[in-house]
Amino acid sequence: MNKFDVIIIGSGLGGLLCGYILGKEGYHVCILEKHSQPGGNLQTFTRHGQKFETGVHYVGALGPNQALSRYWNYFGLLKEIDFQQLDADGFDRIAFGDEEFPLAQGFENFTTQLLKYFPGEQTSLNNYIKTIQEVVSAFPLYNLEIPKAHREHLYTTRSAYDLIEKVSGILYANSKIPLSAVLAGNNYLYGGSGVSPLHMASLINHSFISGAYRIIGGSDQISQALVKSITNQGGTVITRSEVNSIDRFQEKFLVKTLNGEAFLSTLVISDIHPSLTLSMMPVEMVRPAYIKRIASIQNTHSSFILYLTVKPGTFPYYNYNYYFHSSTDCWDESSTTEVPWPGMFLLSTGCHMKAQKFAETVTILTYMRFEEVEQWKNTTVGKRGQEYLDFKKNMADKLLKLVSQKFPMLPAAINHMEISTPLTYRDYTGIPEGALYGIQKNFKEPLLTTVMPRTKIPNFYFTGQNTNLHGVLGVTIGSVVTCGEILGLEYLLKKIQHGG
Ligand SMILES: Cc1cc2nc3c(=O)[nH]c(=O)nc-3n(C[C@H](O)[C@H](O)[C@H](O)COP(=O)(O)OP(=O)(O)OC[C@H]3O[C@@H](n4cnc5c(N)ncnc54)[C@H](O)[C@@H]3O)c2cc1C
Repeated sequence: MNKFDVIIIGSGLGGLLCGYILGKEGYHVCILEKHSQPGGNLQTFTRHGQKFETGVHYVGALGPNQALSRYWNYFGLLKEIDFQQLDADGFDRIAFGDEEFPLAQGFENFTTQLLKYFPGEQTSLNNYIKTIQEVVSAFPLYNLEIPKAHREHLYTTRSAYDLIEKVSGILYANSKIPLSAVLAGNNYLYGGSGVSPLHMASLINHSFISGAYRIIGGSDQISQALVKSITNQGGTVITRSEVNSIDRFQEKFLVKTLNGEAFLSTLVISDIHPSLTLSMMPVEMVRPAYIKRIASIQNTHSSFILYLTVKPGTFPYYNYNYYFHSSTDCWDESSTTEVPWPGMFLLSTGCHMKAQKFAETVTILTYMRFEEVEQWKNTTVGKRGQEYLDFKKNMADKLLKLVSQKFPMLPAAINHMEISTPLTYRDYTGIPEGALYGIQKNFKEPLLTTVMPRTKIPNFYFTGQNTNLHGVLGVTIGSVVTCGEILGLEYLLKKIQHGG
């Protein structure tokens, strides 16, 4: 029997960061990962000599002294990885037809750049910035401070749609594009829909306006650096080790894997979807009401993604991301099934070096509902059949047709194309239905759709995107909240504030 202080299920960012924190505090840690590559959404893959990121295209709040860089300084990640700051005057470009608008870095600059397109909107833009700053101030951990007076509920119970739609309906010049549509234009970052909470949109937008960066050379460097540190601390990360049972045995947890191994530990942290976690436990271990609540939670929609290698020197490297929309209603795209599909796309060029002039890889993302691929749900990677391949090709053609409206030169530049569907994400990350960001947070039901890190099962915790918030910054802070439950949040935060 393998004995540890803590077993962590899943080596996504949240699992690895918890492993790092507890290992540094002297706990004997073991992380069990079902895949051959650790990292979950940090995974990369290589085709035709080019590396692709799967679930991290840019990160926010990574500028000097900003939240993510202060947290990552503690995790030893800043010295291991090189970053490329995205364009200060437009890290995201929001496009509707031929019109294009920049979302800039720096709060003053954000307003200055948009005022060029929407003169006379100073007050609306000031109010928008003031609101997101006010929301962030109610989440002190986003500034590495201990939560004292709790004001989070004021914003978890309000809708992002309301904030953004009320900013202003004033149109750009003589076109039909309102400022509100531009501000909603990058809401793919949080699967923007009518139920998205205000705090989620505000925290995420605030982080990117503060400082938006790409990882030079791929997000797998984060997982590699963390695995190395955890191992140096005396911990273990075991890949190809899928957990399929969690039980109690002599006052400890007994965790078993598909390949027949058994592990004993005092603590367990699950970095995987809560419904999957609960399905591995005997019924007497969990209260039926809790199982019912978790089972009733909706997941976010999934994605359909094209990974392109492009011919050398044919397609520019853009130091920003393009969000293109067919219509100015950016809030319904995630729930659209057929007509018109796709309603939007996000195009991002891979960052392989500093001062890159031409793209080597291009990734194009849009929404796709799991229902679209449900008929193949019992198949596995590489064995889904010709009909599925035809489906993928057909959908890729549709997406490329939309992309060509904005980038007519792209189809001729393509060397090779890899396609992922909701099934690909489900099978590579273990997330039910390949949901983009796990559980869908809903401002109408904030308590129901928030999974707390501490559970009613003593010594059993959750971490990862289903707890605090999805995304690299959200999951980083979530790992601190989870480990804060074990070590004491104030104690842990003081250590992080002082860099270790
Ligand atoms: C397409 C896409 C684009 C994104 N882009 C960005 C971006 O640009 N910026 C950003 O900040 N965020 C982005 N995100 C979100 C971000 O990547 C995630 O929120 C974050 O990485 C989730 O981390 P996690 O710790 O919750 O674990 P996950 O990444 O979900 O990892 C869970 C791990 O658990 C493993 N596992 C599952 N079941 C088992 C089992 N039974 N036993 C053992 N192991 C198991 C999985 O294999 C996986 O490794 C994106 C996500 C997607 C899908």
